[in-house]
Amino acid sequence: MPEKTIANRLLQVMEDNILPMTELGVASGNKVFGAAILRKSDLALIVAETNNELENPLWHGEVHTLKRFYELNDKPATKDLIFLSTHEPCTMCMSAITWAGFDNFYYFFSHEDSRDSFAIPHDLKILKEVFGLEPGGYRRQNAFWKSFAIADLVETEDERLKAELKEQTARIKSRYAALSNTYQATKSANDIPLN
Ligand SMILES: [Zn+2]
Repeated sequence: MPEKTIANRLLQVMEDNILPMTELGVASGNKVFGAAILRKSDLALIVAETNNELENPLWHGEVHTLKRFYELNDKPATKDLIFLSTHEPCTMCMSAITWAGFDNFYYFFSHEDSRDSFAIPHDLKILKEVFGLEPGGYRRQNAFWKSFAIADLVETEDERLKAELKEQTARIKSRYAALSNTYQATKSANDIPLN
């Protein structure tokens, strides 16, 4: 049996670990964004979390995951870890990943997806208003880290695995579409500043 590739494993963590937490989070009024941290050597899951902006508007999926990570007693060094974000991180989360010492992050949905498919335009608005950057205007590879879209990795797999991963991608997208509908239908009831 072939070894699990990173794309294969990251999609599995989204489906099995992050999405169930996000389904609960969205049911209580939080956003759809989640994240996880895995070990590079064996792709074992260290921690997964989901958005918790109802408690604190800074608890984006990524920052909430980092908070949980730093609460663990026994933590690997971040240079030995992979950071997975369900959605391309906003500028706060990107900086948090940087300050924590990760040399990578991987994401499933893009900033444009957040704006167009999830009706959450804040990532791109902040890039433009605060930094003067157009969509895609930040450096995806820089002295701190390299970032990767999971969809691009899927394209590099052999044909059989690629077909499987595309099916899985479609399954994941349909679960997120349902979550987005729930969030958008209920968000007027929450106090999240950028909802
Ligand atoms: Zn964020």
